[in-house]
Amino acid sequence: MRTGKSNARRWRSLLLLVAFVGLIIAYMTLENRDNAAQSPALTAGGDTSTASPSPSDEAAVSPSPSEDGAATPVPTPSDKPEETAKPTVKPTVKPTAKPTSKPASGGAGSGGSGAIAVVAQPESITALVNKQNGLPREYEPTDLVFPDVPFLFKEKIDKRKLRKEAAAALEEMFAGAKDDGVALAGVSAYRSYATQKALFERYVKKDGEAKARTYSAYPGTSEHETGLAIDVSGSTGKCAATSCFGGSKEAVWLDKHAAEYGFIIRYPKGKQSITGYMYEPWHLRFVGKELAKELTDKEQTLEEYYNAVPVTK
Ligand SMILES: [Zn+2]
Repeated sequence: MRTGKSNARRWRSLLLLVAFVGLIIAYMTLENRDNAAQSPALTAGGDTSTASPSPSDEAAVSPSPSEDGAATPVPTPSDKPEETAKPTVKPTVKPTAKPTSKPASGGAGSGGSGAIAVVAQPESITALVNKQNGLPREYEPTDLVFPDVPFLFKEKIDKRKLRKEAAAALEEMFAGAKDDGVALAGVSAYRSYATQKALFERYVKKDGEAKARTYSAYPGTSEHETGLAIDVSGSTGKCAATSCFGGSKEAVWLDKHAAEYGFIIRYPKGKQSITGYMYEPWHLRFVGKELAKELTDKEQTLEEYYNAVPVTK
């Protein structure tokens, strides 16, 4: 009898243990899934600007993989970013023909998950910066200014800055849009290497490097660090830096006119396998009028222009 009872007790303990482990596994799975949505929020908290309705921008590369981290979280809960998330940086980098990059020496890839070439002319307005071509650690644009256009937040912080030439072009573009009855607003522009690094390291601490890389840009590899990229929305901030911005009046206008002012839609639809990023109708990159027109006319990405290795290859 006693042994029967103690056996039963032992069984019950075992069952409890199994249930407990099951719970932990389920919880971890959920954590992973939520992570995508939460990272940007975390970010917003860490950012000095609180007013931005975009939950995101700091988490530069979000799971699905988005340069701005926002595309997934808010309006599209049905997206399952983690399934498409893949660390795309691979050691296939080879020197690109044109001006910008040369083979990295270990570059940034400390984790050994892939070399990142160091951009040779980071100050060039046509520099190619992507998951395989990163800015030098010490690079900081020297001519950052505050463009005189509305942003979705009031603070005068880094996020509002662009390099001088890009800022002037942005002002012209916003004025042009206004003439056409389209009210634009800035969501997020410059982000320093240090900011990106701090952010990335926070994620590494939380999730480990391999995982962090799937949703946050490795320091140096976010185009926002060039001071030539900006996320733009309508003045109401609706769908700011998220996929529902696509097809909006503002997105349509930008698609049609950005190149006239020297900007390109850097991550166009259908080019994800080349750029490494999903379609981001809000992420504009200044490259100058001449190149912007050429790329837009030919429907080319910067990667294609430089004959660079597709980011996901
Ligand atoms: Zn962006």
